Amino acid sequence: MLQKTSHFMRQANLIDGEWVQADSGATIDVINPATGLKLGTVPKAGRAETRRAIEAADRAFQTFKKTSALERSKLLRKLHDAILDNQDALAELLTLEQGKSLTEAKGEVGSSAAYVLWFAEEARRAYGDVVPSPWADRRIMVTREPVGVIGAITPWNFPSSMLARKIAPAIAAGCTAVVKPASQTPYSGLAWGALCEEVGIPNGVVNIVTGSAGEIGDELCENPIIKKITFTGSTEVGKLLIAKSASTVKKVSMELGGNAPFIVFDDADLDRAVEGAMMAKYRNSGQTCVCTNRFFVQAGIYDQFVAKLAEASNQLKVGPGVEDGVQQGPLIDERAVEKVEELIADATSKGGKVVAGGSRHELGGSFFQPTVIADAQPSMKFMKEEIFGPVAPVFKFETEEEAVALANDTEFGLACYFYTSDLGRAFRVMEGLKYGMVGVNEGLITTPEAPFGGVKESGLGREGGHQGIDDYLDTKYVCIGGL
Ligand code: ADP
Repeated sequence: MLQKTSHFMRQANLIDGEWVQADSGATIDVINPATGLKLGTVPKAGRAETRRAIEAADRAFQTFKKTSALERSKLLRKLHDAILDNQDALAELLTLEQGKSLTEAKGEVGSSAAYVLWFAEEARRAYGDVVPSPWADRRIMVTREPVGVIGAITPWNFPSSMLARKIAPAIAAGCTAVVKPASQTPYSGLAWGALCEEVGIPNGVVNIVTGSAGEIGDELCENPIIKKITFTGSTEVGKLLIAKSASTVKKVSMELGGNAPFIVFDDADLDRAVEGAMMAKYRNSGQTCVCTNRFFVQAGIYDQFVAKLAEASNQLKVGPGVEDGVQQGPLIDERAVEKVEELIADATSKGGKVVAGGSRHELGGSFFQPTVIADAQPSMKFMKEEIFGPVAPVFKFETEEEAVALANDTEFGLACYFYTSDLGRAFRVMEGLKYGMVGVNEGLITTPEAPFGGVKESGLGREGGHQGIDDYLDTKYVCIGGL
């Protein structure tokens, strides 16, 4: 398998179908978070290389926009098959650079393939409209056209699937792309280049540059050839990209931070709620934007829930993602561990009780114990700040109104979850929560068929669902007169 993995581990950028180094020859080291050892390097590209990638994408667009939807659908189907044919090798590469367990990495690669297949299908359904005309001698037609060259910037927590949600709808719509993966996890991003080559996606349609986030980001946002920026990452960087894109009025799609609440009412199925809580909290060691940040549990069921969650958390197997049976890999880096420690210290200084974990794992490095904190209070930092780690603060509440108010008391609005067996309450709470996605008696809800995205400062636009291609298409109204 290692041989296959190394086939995908490209230590170069893909520009106009060529694998190239940075102009300066400078590189960035890529570290395996489970060992702290260097895996390899990638080019440290800047503005000049990004500009060349954009120009290549623009040349490719002139031809690619004329391909039929069926042709692009076929290319995406081939890409889907190639991903699944190489699922093990791609998953291993993902685990080596990112840290998550092999099981989760295989799941992520499978999810990438599923998004590609979804958009292979949606490519053929980018329908326009024929609108009843108010004039007897004119007809009204509405068509949809690819926006042009898009710029995509993705984070390290899902280095494969976050690109799937951007590259696949771009190709489906007939756009071309310049992509910048996160510097911590560039190989899963560059692997998309190897896969695109393998299935015959024309040169220049997908270009991939690694390197200085600031320089590459500035060129993508300021270059007038780029018509759309799609970004997944922090709200802080997202705001910066929106502001920079304003100078050329680009379309923007933003998948930003979350502060997911997970509400458990007295009438919930407790075991189901704990099972959902484990998935919603500990997936990717808590490093996802839809991971639960705050548990709100009603007073009558509070002690039982905390005890069961603590017990289940203590049972999670922590270790290097490549080892059999491991459920929790390391955090991405030392900074992430320090952030988690800071949040726990803040909580305990304000009366929080650690009932599971609470400190670094004996394996050392960036491994951290799955942690549950009881008696959480709204004054604690994780009421407002994203934890991005395996820490579960549990707040107690009395009434439904109080739970909804606490859950909504944040500038974020990505995913939320709640558990109840009362149908009326399910509808009241679902309608009361100001979030883009709601899991009712479910802790894991992401799927290509459904629109993923947030409201408030969690972002703009949707990825997946039939909505997922919309941001890659411009609407054109054509009035045909003189009939
Ligand atoms: P995270 O906290 O997940 O690392 P970031 O928002 O910092 O989130 O990073 C997400 C992506 O945005 C990464 O690819 C990163 O390199 C990139 N990025 C970070 N800063 C900038 C910037 N100033 N301009 C453009 N991209 C950036």
